[in-house]
Amino acid sequence: MLSLKGKVVIVTGGSRGIGSTIAKEVAKRGATVVINYNTSLNLAEKVVEEIEESGGKAFAYKANVALSNDAKNLIETTKNKFGRIDILINNAGITRDRTFRNLSEEEWNEVINVNLNSVYNTTSAVINTMLEQKYGRIINISSIIGQAGGFGQTNYSASKAGMIGFTKSLALETAKYGVTVNSICPGYIETEMTGQIPDKILDQIVAKIPMKRLGKTNEVAEAVLFLANSDYITGQTLNVNGGVYM
Ligand code: NAP
Repeated sequence: MLSLKGKVVIVTGGSRGIGSTIAKEVAKRGATVVINYNTSLNLAEKVVEEIEESGGKAFAYKANVALSNDAKNLIETTKNKFGRIDILINNAGITRDRTFRNLSEEEWNEVINVNLNSVYNTTSAVINTMLEQKYGRIINISSIIGQAGGFGQTNYSASKAGMIGFTKSLALETAKYGVTVNSICPGYIETEMTGQIPDKILDQIVAKIPMKRLGKTNEVAEAVLFLANSDYITGQTLNVNGGVYM
């Protein structure tokens, strides 16, 4: 099993869904994990408990990563508490689906702020630490919708496509310092986010997936572990989507 012993990992949006599975999987490999959440204190504490019960080290931290000061506090507190930050997983995300004609400016801004500006907020706060360490992994959880588009998802799609461009550009700047930056594009994964999709539409989506099922959160976590372990993969977009977009 891959070892992440001694590594310090931050997972934004680690209280539920994909983020909580990533947090548990990196902890199983020996990393100390900071589980960021915004509103779900109880769920974040449950993830910490589960990790500690199986002998791991975790810590829950409330921060709305859409806010620059909250993101700075998350990074600074982690650095002060554990002395370093090795892996940042930008996973926090929301949807506010609406056809473009009906989309309000507020719904546009909310999704761009939580999904994309958060990536600027956390990454800008952590980057100097990683460059000085001459080691770092930044893994951005984008989406198939950032690649293929999605009906009623102009805001979400723009935010997720933005993450991919951000990833490639930053990867160019940080490669020589041993800091890799990659994106993962999950397809449709079983979480509360896809739970919001009406059953009829979800059936139509599944029918189009070559594997004929939704993905599981641990299948995204496996991609995170793979990228965390690689020194020579950077600027890439790794699809975890059952073959629905190639
Ligand atoms: P989810 O179950 O809805 O969980 C979202 C997580 O993000 C929660 O932990 C939530 O924490 C956190 N979050 C939301 N707003 C935040 C904020 N302002 N600051 C800090 N944390 C915040 O979502 P998911 O399905 O696991 O998705 C995780 C990521 O994968 C998202 O970026 C999503 O876009 C992406 N993705 C998901 C799918 C899918 O099919 N599920 C597909 C492609 C990409 P609180 O509850 O504390 O607010």
